[in-house]
Amino acid sequence: MHEYDIVVIGAGPAGLLVAGDLAALGRSVAVVERRPTIDRRSRAFAVMPRTLEVLRQRHLSDAVVAVGHPQDRVHVPGGVRVDLSGLPTPFPYILVVPQYVVETELDRYARQSGATVLRDHEVTGIELDRDGVQVQTSRRGESGPRLGARYLVAADGAHSTVRSLLGLPFPGHTVIRSVILADVVAEGAPDGLSIGVGGDAFTFLAPYGDGRRYRAMGWDRHRQPAEDEPVTDDELRRLLERTRTDGVTIRTVEQAWRFRSDERQLRDYRQARVLFAGDAAHVHSPAGGQGMNTGIQDAANLAWKLDHVLAGAPTEVLDSYQRERHPVGRSVLRRSGAMLRLFTLPDRIGGPARAAVGAALRVPAVRRAVAAGLSGITVRYPGPGVVGRRAAMIPTAAGLMLDRQSDLHFVLVVPAGDDPGPTSEVRVLRRDDRGPAVLVRPDGYIAWAGTAADGTWRDELARWSPPPRRQRATASAVHTGH
Ligand SMILES: Cc1cc2nc3c(=O)[nH]c(=O)nc-3n(C[C@H](O)[C@H](O)[C@H](O)COP(=O)(O)OP(=O)(O)OC[C@H]3O[C@@H](n4cnc5c(N)ncnc54)[C@H](O)[C@@H]3O)c2cc1C
Repeated sequence: MHEYDIVVIGAGPAGLLVAGDLAALGRSVAVVERRPTIDRRSRAFAVMPRTLEVLRQRHLSDAVVAVGHPQDRVHVPGGVRVDLSGLPTPFPYILVVPQYVVETELDRYARQSGATVLRDHEVTGIELDRDGVQVQTSRRGESGPRLGARYLVAADGAHSTVRSLLGLPFPGHTVIRSVILADVVAEGAPDGLSIGVGGDAFTFLAPYGDGRRYRAMGWDRHRQPAEDEPVTDDELRRLLERTRTDGVTIRTVEQAWRFRSDERQLRDYRQARVLFAGDAAHVHSPAGGQGMNTGIQDAANLAWKLDHVLAGAPTEVLDSYQRERHPVGRSVLRRSGAMLRLFTLPDRIGGPARAAVGAALRVPAVRRAVAAGLSGITVRYPGPGVVGRRAAMIPTAAGLMLDRQSDLHFVLVVPAGDDPGPTSEVRVLRRDDRGPAVLVRPDGYIAWAGTAADGTWRDELARWSPPPRRQRATASAVHTGH
């Protein structure tokens, strides 16, 4: 017997979302986190539209949007502007908000849903047994509680202890060193997010929305001090002068530090009863602002699958986590890496490459594709036709699909005239446009599309579900004559 259904290691965004969802679904969940409190020295500051949709499904977006600053434009070198305002989402912008705000909301979600969050506890050992996992913790150097669970989610970040304890390689390499990250008060910066490149250096500015304060990032090919060397105000000012023509000037540097970034990805996100999510599974540079966003999507993809497997669904359901999320992680690494290289290539080669990209971005369709790619709304999972696409914007008689799935269950959405017959297995909603019937997974992606009356959606539902539901589905199918 195990004390918990799930133990999650790491109370970052990925771990807290997985814990919150599983607890909301009625699972017993413990989260083990080394830090005593949420880290206020924020890393991520760009929350993408698809992540805001995931938060809205859980009634968490209002609190985050209330303190963030929506930015619907990204200024790229060459005077081109990528505009997100036309994206088909309730959040057609990048929300600039410190990571700790997102973590605070997710922490509240996890606790209110019933998860136990053990802060100031560190994982020091793991033992896999036949039907579960034993986790050894320590607290301030003393031995802490030992926790038993049927599954373990390793969301313990880029330097994952779980990965090390299991001896798993994290293939990849360091791609950039000595990048400056700072909070500054500045004048003359353009509205929106902006990137400056030139003189073998780049800078990036994201407004905090009060017209004065900005999150700044900067890098200089010719100056690469150790990461613990303090950043000087002058250094940052000179970098901005060299990389930009928009006349922005820094008044005050509030805080600044340096970091390096790796590009790495775990080969298998699942090792028996251990599942990896977020930075523990993939890391890349902050170019494109995707790390936290991707980790939150991993978590949303994983939680309901674990719940179904715990309820008796075949463990193959968990294989779909690897099948769906590993390629997304790989493509995020590729795109973020390409962006980073574009900014950091020496001017001799980088100049022409940047000019070519600038020319491509003058084509509206290319700009729209870049905006959609950044936003996360174009992520789709394998499947024919609309299967695998997100269902958020499907209109139902009761409102947007996005707002009809906060219980994290499957929903069947049927157009007028397509009667699925008596159904006890899923909630049925009326589709308010001319699209086909769709079966929508708990994470908001389409699992099946067709004619509800022919009952084939039941086969798809059964693939993800525990046997009792399969039996019920069969009985119901017989009952309805299919
Ligand atoms: C400068 C910078 C800017 C960034 N900007 C963006 C951005 O704009 N948008 C974006 O999406 N992403 C951005 N990122 C990336 C983002 O910060 C990470 O991808 C995100 O924090 C990953 O979340 P996570 O939950 O996977 O891991 P983490 O946030 O790293 O959380 C892991 C947690 O596990 C805990 N832990 C580790 N080991 C143990 C242990 N043995 N026992 C107990 N607990 C443990 C840690 O204390 C930590 O709290 C940026 C990163 C950097 C460095």
